[in-house]
Amino acid sequence: MIKVLVNGALGRMGRTVCAAVNADSELELVGAVDVLEGTVEGLQVATNLDAALKSLSPDVMVDFTRPAVVFGNVMTALANKVSPVVGTTGLSDDAKEQIRRRAEEMDTPAFIAPNFALGAVLMMLAAQRIAKFMPDVEIIELHHDNKLDAPSGTAELTAKMIAQVRPPHKQGHPDEVERLAHVRGADVDGIRIHSVRLPGYVAHQEVIFGGLGQTLTIRHDSTGRDSFMPGVVLACKKVRTLRGLTIGLDKLLD
Ligand code: NAD
Repeated sequence: MIKVLVNGALGRMGRTVCAAVNADSELELVGAVDVLEGTVEGLQVATNLDAALKSLSPDVMVDFTRPAVVFGNVMTALANKVSPVVGTTGLSDDAKEQIRRRAEEMDTPAFIAPNFALGAVLMMLAAQRIAKFMPDVEIIELHHDNKLDAPSGTAELTAKMIAQVRPPHKQGHPDEVERLAHVRGADVDGIRIHSVRLPGYVAHQEVIFGGLGQTLTIRHDSTGRDSFMPGVVLACKKVRTLRGLTIGLDKLLD
């Protein structure tokens, strides 16, 4: 049995993860931590992560908290030789580099996925393949209005994956003028990302490719948080077999 502690256990994702861990025969939910007090899946939620890691000795800490605290949580887990499985978005490239170094130093593998939904991972891989042939592309990501960070980690990773395969490329009109600030979205390696935040959405993304006389759109919709659970459960089972820091669910798929 792989012992799992869930951090952010009283949040929307945290509660769903606790239930998914409990339902899996190879995983055991040994602890739940949050800054709030409460119970989840019959467990009393602890409020001190370091103390909970020391007393419960889990193999894995799943983190679905907030962008502002996730780095500290991951460092606390690594200091206790507990493998972090991180769903919280908003970690900078520099923070990920520090996590990579610390994971190697502590000989404790770590895993981060900006999106745990299988369909979203397939969308990113498909986008990367299509961009070789249709390099003009923009991304629209749409999320619920309680999301704290923009753009979504998925949109940023999609743009970076596309940038890896297409040659440096200037798209749009060279004399284009933004009459309103940011109206053309953010620029990631020359690819525009547009973020929509509205009640009613969960997590959605469109990748739109434009070519001569045609467009091609691929779209992924997470209509419920259960879409992320098979990926989280898989990461909990595989993380201890990895080395250093691994980023992206695609790395765990055969
Ligand atoms: P939420 O606000 O519902 O839950 C966050 C929980 O974390 C809350 O219960 C809060 O009290 C708790 N928390 C805050 N600070 C904490 C700390 N220092 N220690 C412990 N707990 C703390 O948010 P959510 O919708 O569950 O999303 C959480 C994160 O997961 C966000 O960053 C979101 O973007 C990300 N997310 C990632 C994926 C993915 O597939 N990777 C999917 C959905 C959401």
